[in-house]
Amino acid sequence: MTKLSNLRPALGTMPTRLGTVGPADERERSALRSKTEPSFKWYNSARWKKLRMSVLVRDRFTCQRCKLVEPDTSKLVADHIIPHRNDPVKFWDGKLQCLCRNCHSGAKQAEEKAIPTIKGCWY
Ligand SMILES: [Zn+2]
Repeated sequence: MTKLSNLRPALGTMPTRLGTVGPADERERSALRSKTEPSFKWYNSARWKKLRMSVLVRDRFTCQRCKLVEPDTSKLVADHIIPHRNDPVKFWDGKLQCLCRNCHSGAKQAEEKAIPTIKGCWY
């Protein structure tokens, strides 16, 4: 009769059956996004940087929600009032507003997620 103490644990030696489900880290995730989301490339373009800055200047570096005046432009976002959802017309020609990072990542993102999507149409 085998004693229980002689049995080796089998869990650690079993091969995984799950494989990799998604990107492993932020670099991989970023590389995947640049291939699948056209807006990822648009945000890195000189055209966007110029457009973004024109919005921040027009709105006088003032968050259009909380009215915070922020001199550090890295803490401001040129926000698409109507979400572009990778549509080039909405991305480039849609109305933009200056938001602080807090307002953009908080309430605004929650609102966008709450809009139901129907087969690529977002409203
Ligand atoms: Zn704000």
